[in-house]
Amino acid sequence: MTFALQGIAISGGYAIGRAQLFSHDRLEAPHYVLQARDLDAEVARFEEAVAMVRAECEHLRDHLPEGAPPELAAFLDLHRLFLEDSMLSEVPKRLIREQACNAEWALAQQTEALLAQFEGIEDAYLRERRHDVKQVADRVLKALLGHPGHAPVKPVDEEPTVLVAHDLSPSDMVLFKRHAYAGFITDLGGTTSHTAILARSLNISSVMALHNARALVQEGDTLIVDGVSGVVIVNPDESILEEYRLRQNQWRLEQQKLRRLKSSQSITLDGVQVELLANIDLPPDVREAIDEGATGIGLFRSEFLFLNRGDLPSEDEQFEAYRQVVKAMKGRPVVIRTLDAGADKSLAWMSQKSENPALGLRAIRLCLAEPHIFMTQIRAILRASHYGSARILLPMLASLTELDQALALIATAKAELKAEKIKFDANVPIGGMIEVPAAALAAEWFARKLDFLSLGTNDLIQYTLAIDRTDDTVAHLYDPLHPAVIYLLGHTLKVGRRLDCPVSVCGEMAGDARLTRLLLGLGLRSFSMHPAHILSVKQQVLRSQTQLLEPLAGKLMRLGDPVRILALLDKINA
Ligand code: PEP
Ligand code: MG
Repeated sequence: MTFALQGIAISGGYAIGRAQLFSHDRLEAPHYVLQARDLDAEVARFEEAVAMVRAECEHLRDHLPEGAPPELAAFLDLHRLFLEDSMLSEVPKRLIREQACNAEWALAQQTEALLAQFEGIEDAYLRERRHDVKQVADRVLKALLGHPGHAPVKPVDEEPTVLVAHDLSPSDMVLFKRHAYAGFITDLGGTTSHTAILARSLNISSVMALHNARALVQEGDTLIVDGVSGVVIVNPDESILEEYRLRQNQWRLEQQKLRRLKSSQSITLDGVQVELLANIDLPPDVREAIDEGATGIGLFRSEFLFLNRGDLPSEDEQFEAYRQVVKAMKGRPVVIRTLDAGADKSLAWMSQKSENPALGLRAIRLCLAEPHIFMTQIRAILRASHYGSARILLPMLASLTELDQALALIATAKAELKAEKIKFDANVPIGGMIEVPAAALAAEWFARKLDFLSLGTNDLIQYTLAIDRTDDTVAHLYDPLHPAVIYLLGHTLKVGRRLDCPVSVCGEMAGDARLTRLLLGLGLRSFSMHPAHILSVKQQVLRSQTQLLEPLAGKLMRLGDPVRILALLDKINA
């Protein structure tokens, strides 16, 4: 049956593919399709992994350390029993052959089916045995992943897949980077949630806030993901598929045309130079930034180095990551934002759960509460500054006391490095994010103490309009054109000009080509965005005349009526 679901368009383009329902286990397990001739070898690889885990269990059972609790032996026996059960040792082999898939994938599917069966068991003791099943399956999965053996890992042309999830965390999305999905859709999430931002960074079409896609879509359904209008069509008929194949081709052609702008200077028709910088999450992203013609990194979200792990990255590990980016950018600016953890980017070691995490111990607040974490990071950034042009950016500043405390810690880190005779750039510029309305209104005092400001419009909109950016039920209220938001942007830019303190925008507004001209008119000259958006924003810059845009933007700042604001935006973009 064909049906359509409406959500929020997150990432442009169109995807057509088979639905794959999300589970954490499957995300950890790679998936590829095998040639018929390789299936015997794959089954043998699975058997080897099972045999290896069995031998491990037996060895442990026979060499129990003295004083080991008696339950340990029983526990190992139970694991051996599970391993011998055909549900775990035989069914995956059948799946490998039936689906021509790799062993990890077959095992992950079967584990999931088994766990679902355990969920339905009434007896609490038996139900708890699902943890044992999971542990045994994880051991086999690890054996497979650690010993790829003669696995014929060369995938044949695989049908594109679309991931269907109820919700995805930013940490899931980081793992997701390793998989080549054609698109993804979720029930929850807002336009500027970090999950959505990461989805854009993957540059695949995605729709969020669909409410019940995970329940309605079946594994293997054909899906069209329309990342332009936010529609998902389930099991479309041939005529709809044909229409979307055409749109897909059109989209690809437009993207190819944009590539021609890659080496053009980013300059308006009246000769105003506009800086187009990239936002990155992890060091490897720098390749795409350079590839899309970014003239620097305007936001390195360093917290992604801290996700998906139980410990903290050491000073040396961070130093290596920052140095890698700074060196790759060859003297062009690299703005490294200090740890912005908390809210939807919660870390394993942050045990305290806040009732209202977006207003809780997040970003600079967390760093000032845990100065050793902050100091380690600052030392790492300072050390990397010796290799190029690094800058420090402090997230979520609200009060000047916070800024003073952070500056004092940076000064201490510098003094330490100097005493240790470690090289760093003593004049590394320090900037602050303007993403809390208080900071925008008090921009003057922040600008006086800082070398640059960066408007984080995602949070600025969240905090100004009191909308949780991760909550799909209020996502429709997210409005970058709200007069209060425009006022705060205009005010901060004006203060920056007056005090000669450069201001950039690094929130999602900077990468939205519909808003480029308005932002130019408000006086913005530095945009930082996901690399995938640089060329479409550049296209707007090349067609703009700031002298014409300034009075129009000024007029928009004086409007309150949303309909008139939209009409004027159309005129600005005409
Ligand atoms: C912002 O808030 O606009 C921003 C760039 O930071 P993040 O999206 O990481 O919170
Ligand atoms: Mg922010």
